[in-house]
Amino acid sequence: MGIEFEHVTKQYGEAPPAVGDFSLVVPTGQTTVLVGSSGSGKTTLLRMVNRMVTPSSGRVLIDDEDIAGQDPVKLRRRIGYVMQNSGLLPHRRVIDNIATVPRLNGVAKKQAHERALELMDLVGLDENLARRWPAQLSGGQQQRVGVARALASNPNILLMDEPFGAVDPLVRSELQHWMGRIQAELHKTILFVTHDIAEAIALGDQIVLLKNGGAIAQVGTPADLVANPADDFVSSFLGLDRGELDLHLQQTAHGTLVLDSRGRPAGRLAAGQELP
Ligand code: ADP
Ligand code: MG
Repeated sequence: MGIEFEHVTKQYGEAPPAVGDFSLVVPTGQTTVLVGSSGSGKTTLLRMVNRMVTPSSGRVLIDDEDIAGQDPVKLRRRIGYVMQNSGLLPHRRVIDNIATVPRLNGVAKKQAHERALELMDLVGLDENLARRWPAQLSGGQQQRVGVARALASNPNILLMDEPFGAVDPLVRSELQHWMGRIQAELHKTILFVTHDIAEAIALGDQIVLLKNGGAIAQVGTPADLVANPADDFVSSFLGLDRGELDLHLQQTAHGTLVLDSRGRPAGRLAAGQELP
């Protein structure tokens, strides 16, 4: 179940593969974060899921079905996609941007607008913003509209490509908190891409740390990575060698929580694990 990458590669011309022999299971109802430096192949992997990129070899399965045989337009209408720059249509009002996919799916305008207003409420946007143009919103508001639009056809899968990368740090952290809260309610299968390890720790149930060419350095929960980094590359990426993550522990009735420098839960230590 969920999304499965089976030995996928992507080769562009003569260059080294953008992604080489990548395999991963993205579990249903959880947030999996692909984290890695720029050029490590994150966007290429994400776009294989909605067939915007076709693998050179290997397969991508959704709920055990090879997507190569599926109609790409239909596939995309059941997968929400959120981009870094929100990708909103500038000449459509907020409410019509959110209603785009339901309208394409044949939902009547009135129903599509009612649904759009519900989604605005879910993503924390006041309904009096419905008639605005995207350019009349702040960066953070635009990203919320982007998430609402991606949720509009009620997809089980959400692909998010550095969705909070372009907003300032304070708004970014607010959006991360908010994203965690709505995911706790929605339980979508989320594949989230970022180059920011703190964001990965804040949002990921599962973190996949990538080196160049989509090579997996380590897969695990945030606490797994922090407590048992696979190698120096992982420690260095996590900032453990520089003390940047500033993680500490808190004992609770449910076990040992790992908290980040702002006191946000970054994960949970399994029995027998220790912080390095
Ligand atoms: P990331 O999202 O992690 O920054 P990308 O998946 O965008 O990485 O890119 C991975 C590698 O593939 C990079 O070296 C990039 O230059 C290359 N690449 C991506 N898209 C194309 C393309 N359409 N044509 C040629 N090379 C590409
Ligand atoms: Mg990218």
